[in-house]
Amino acid sequence: MKTLSLFIFFLTSIACKESTTVYLCNSEGGKKYHYKSTCRGLSNCQRKIIETTLDKAKSQGKTLCGWEK
Ligand SMILES: [Zn+2]
Repeated sequence: MKTLSLFIFFLTSIACKESTTVYLCNSEGGKKYHYKSTCRGLSNCQRKIIETTLDKAKSQGKTLCGWEK
């Protein structure tokens, strides 16, 4: 049973990731996305902070911010 519930948890976490909200700094060199709008990596953003989804961020070639690994 433990294996089954882990498997269900795994599937659920995949489904949830598709609509995960992430944050981007709207700067020319910005290549990172952030799970938290209060992340240290965003605190020095000089431009607007954009809210988007994880899928969109990844399709734009963004990678996870170094502070959140
Ligand atoms: Zn971050």
